[in-house]
Amino acid sequence: MSLMPAPSAMSDRRDKLRRQIKQEGLDALLVTNFVNVTYLTGFTGDDSYLLVTPTGDLLISDQRYSTQLEEECPGLELAIRGPGSKMLEFTAKALERARPRRLGIEADSMTVALRNALAEALPKIELVATSGWVEELRLIKDKEEIQRTRRACELARRAFDVVRAKLTPEMTEQQVSNELEYQARQFGAKGVSFETIVAVGPRAALPHARPTGRHIGASDFTLIDWGVNEGLYMSDLTRVLATAKISPKLRKLYGVVLKSQLAGIDAVRPGATCEEVDQAARRVIDDAGYGKHFGHGLGHGIGLEIHEAPRLAQGQQRALKPGMIVTVEPGIYFPDWGGIRIEDDVLVTRAGHEVLSSVPKELDECLVG
Ligand code: ZN
Ligand code: ZN
Repeated sequence: MSLMPAPSAMSDRRDKLRRQIKQEGLDALLVTNFVNVTYLTGFTGDDSYLLVTPTGDLLISDQRYSTQLEEECPGLELAIRGPGSKMLEFTAKALERARPRRLGIEADSMTVALRNALAEALPKIELVATSGWVEELRLIKDKEEIQRTRRACELARRAFDVVRAKLTPEMTEQQVSNELEYQARQFGAKGVSFETIVAVGPRAALPHARPTGRHIGASDFTLIDWGVNEGLYMSDLTRVLATAKISPKLRKLYGVVLKSQLAGIDAVRPGATCEEVDQAARRVIDDAGYGKHFGHGLGHGIGLEIHEAPRLAQGQQRALKPGMIVTVEPGIYFPDWGGIRIEDDVLVTRAGHEVLSSVPKELDECLVG
């Protein structure tokens, strides 16, 4: 499989944006968020902007990327600045040539410094703040993006299977984390989606625990939250492994979280609001009496970034649509004891949903030593 999505998918995305630019009465949009530039062009480097106009596109980049640009976005019109040229001045010149009267800028990511400098260099161009245009397109994944996410889930599973089989009580959180990343890369991943969380016992109460020198054998369970980047797209999973005889408390809490997670997954379907899905899972934990121990939203979108829209949380009225991919990850946390979280990646389909990640989640005594 080639690393880059088909150029036609990219030009379709830019055409959608072109229609929006017209509808909103703008003459062009300057895309400065690098992830958005990647989404629209396939270019994976940074320090580059994309100018989208009604008649074409211009990728503004620099010489270091010349070869990569040829490989990743053949056919795209380029403006390449040399070593002596400054990004701001070069961008201003490109804009001067394009002559938009009303230029959309990405207000969520453009720095105030860049905005002010552009305004000063181009007094005749009106800068119009836009928000979330490209992010809105990114919400709905196409076939290829779904395929890539599937692969990211598969790579995460294969790496986890190997690590799970190798666990010993002497291993530290850090070693397990390193091993997961190493195995993922061996299977072909570009890397991990984020620093792997390996949290033994009470450390699992921290939703974003960083791995330490604590040994797996120091408690009777370990929480692992990991994901893989297959080149562009991310996966994000969490499992809890029992590393000794399962205590009644662990069994009980795990059962509640699993039931909650299954209820959340079951609620994922087109038309359901993000809040409703959160509520379906939250209700199970509330009913079991642990509501105040579930202190975060149920899930988030994944894609080119590990956290993107939509958010499954209270107050989120957005309705799910086919092609969205979200995590479903309820948890129960006790500061002195630890935390249980179970996380899978779920695709919204026309008929309802499909769970893309396939790591077993029955609570088994696994291993060790
Ligand atoms: Zn996670
Ligand atoms: Zn997550």
